[in-house]
Amino acid sequence: MPHDNIHTCSYSCERPACIRAQRDELAQRLFELVAEAVAAERQEILKLADSLGYVDVDAIRARSEA
Ligand SMILES: [Zn+2]
Repeated sequence: MPHDNIHTCSYSCERPACIRAQRDELAQRLFELVAEAVAAERQEILKLADSLGYVDVDAIRARSEA
């Protein structure tokens, strides 16, 4: 796997490949957090995620119910 695809350094790293990797990693973590909140019916987390607008809570909810 080419080095450019892996983020192995700190969050202050400014290489474009690392910034992309950091963003994808955070998006994935946020998605998992919301999916867990959906499963556990953690309304306060879902409300927060909804108000931030970073993730589509309704889409995750629909997927988890499918
Ligand atoms: Zn880096």
